[in-house]
Amino acid sequence: MLQQTQVDRVVPHYERFVAAFGTPGDCARVRPAEVVRLWSGLGYNRRALNLHRAAVTVVAEHAGMVPRQDDALRALAGIGTYTARAVRSFAFGDDVAAVDTNAVRVLSRCVAGSPLTAGEANRLGDRLVPAGLSWEFNQTMFDLGATVCTGTRPDCAHCPLRRQCVWRRGGATGPDPWRTGPTARRQSPFAGSDRQGRGRLLHALRAGGVDRAALAVACGWPDDAARADMVAAALVREGFARWSGAAPPVLRLV
Ligand code: SF4
Repeated sequence: MLQQTQVDRVVPHYERFVAAFGTPGDCARVRPAEVVRLWSGLGYNRRALNLHRAAVTVVAEHAGMVPRQDDALRALAGIGTYTARAVRSFAFGDDVAAVDTNAVRVLSRCVAGSPLTAGEANRLGDRLVPAGLSWEFNQTMFDLGATVCTGTRPDCAHCPLRRQCVWRRGGATGPDPWRTGPTARRQSPFAGSDRQGRGRLLHALRAGGVDRAALAVACGWPDDAARADMVAAALVREGFARWSGAAPPVLRLV
């Protein structure tokens, strides 16, 4: 839920979700549509489907217990390098760095003083984690990057690392190591995007089926049926929805 979504938005969804599905087994037992419905309002609905798939795998292959090993975690739907590291640190206390976009910014500016790839940032972070304190280390890096060493206006004057910071010690006058690095990606605008239309269509599908003639309106593009068809086809391909009936066919959540 926290992937690309702020904590204060996630908390009420998280509480509702855990109340409904307290264990991977509870989640795996229901149809994917139930998980997608409960996800309503969080966006990035693919995460809901992945969470359900991951729960099914956890039950089928790990006796209902979330695995601890990195390769087993990354084999679960929706879990990549960062999330696997976060689970290992926060759930199991392993000495690994969970390097999100905030942490990589701090590492680039403060420690390396140069741009870092994601792999370099992970390796550098791992070397810095104090034994037995990965939870504290990772939370500190997240908070420092989110509140002090921010993307646009790093508050170096009040930063607890200002005496150690490589970029700051050089006067912070050269190019920003994070901004010039490969991890400083920009999110494309949401308004007018396929993501927006897809979110609207999923919202309509949570309330019931949508027939083909109504797809474009449901997506918010009444004059662009071809684009709506493409978004619907993607939902079917990704396992969110399927067509049922023949005349006319109706799109429904799986
Ligand atoms: S001194 Fe400035 S650039 Fe360096 S870590 Fe602190 S806020 Fe970031």
